[in-house]
Amino acid sequence: MRCSFCERRCDLSDDFHGFCQMYKVEEDRVVERYPFRWSGYQSSDIEMIPFYHAYPGTKSLVVGTMGCNLDCKYCLNSHIAKKQVEESRLYALTPEQILKAARLAGCHNIVFGVNEVTVSFPSFLALAKAAKKQGFAVGCLTNGYLTEEAAELLAEHVLFINLSLKSPSNQFYRHYAGINDVGPIIRNLRFFAERVHLEITTPIVQDVNDHEIPEIARLIAEIDPCIPWHLFRLLPEYKMQDYQYPDIKRIEGLLNIARQEVSYVYFSNFVGSKWVSTDCPLCGTPVVKRVALGTCGAQLAADLRVNEQCAGCGYRIPFLKQSASEQVAVS
Ligand code: SF4
Repeated sequence: MRCSFCERRCDLSDDFHGFCQMYKVEEDRVVERYPFRWSGYQSSDIEMIPFYHAYPGTKSLVVGTMGCNLDCKYCLNSHIAKKQVEESRLYALTPEQILKAARLAGCHNIVFGVNEVTVSFPSFLALAKAAKKQGFAVGCLTNGYLTEEAAELLAEHVLFINLSLKSPSNQFYRHYAGINDVGPIIRNLRFFAERVHLEITTPIVQDVNDHEIPEIARLIAEIDPCIPWHLFRLLPEYKMQDYQYPDIKRIEGLLNIARQEVSYVYFSNFVGSKWVSTDCPLCGTPVVKRVALGTCGAQLAADLRVNEQCAGCGYRIPFLKQSASEQVAVS
């Protein structure tokens, strides 16, 4: 029997638990091996995840599990994503217990982060349904390698997604991420752009995908130039620890050009980044100021919008503020 959550479509016969190690077959159904077991849950500023154009200044409860369906050679999270999954390292928490923790921490929304949402799909969807009923907005991070069916389900249950587009090329994904075809990821990118609030993240690896910045910018601009695009300076781990750290000045030069195509370009994961705030793309007036903390996200410093518009020229910059009750009904 095949798993249909991601495009690997693993055959789970003969006790194989999938590339991600997270599924098994039971009574002719694909089920999770560790339902409602989480590697962590913690509150975070939404800007730190990062989402810059969704609910600025709110707190998110971020949950995650273990395992991944890709095999990125530079993975920063390999202790979670690529380790042998051990049940003893996971917290058993029902959706109700997670939502209670979110309420106690004053969170506005729930986000699946840490690892790939697809590998714990049924648990996440159950959490998302319960969260929506209680008025929480729900979002997630994903590498985008979902099947069409899974992408449709995900779009029904979340309001906001940050999709990690690592490269526009098959060659990159084949060599560095362990899959042959970027096609499904780009297909899902287009699909999510029409259905949910979408932001995109690209980890920049020195001499590996930095030269692809112009091509990625063109791809995003063709889908929607207003999609916020986060690039972060990747400090390689896992199987690429001996690689150089990205050169900030060189990337900034490429981003100054990319900015002519994509309206909201951000660059982080180094101290003192001037690329974490939002300026009006029409008149240049600062709209939302953020402070770089040297990590992949940032912290909100000041929201300078007036009636959700640029104070300089009145241009309405797209920010998600839709409440959970306005979400498409879920069964
Ligand atoms: S989610 Fe896991 S088991 Fe399912 S197809 Fe993808 S890698 Fe295989």
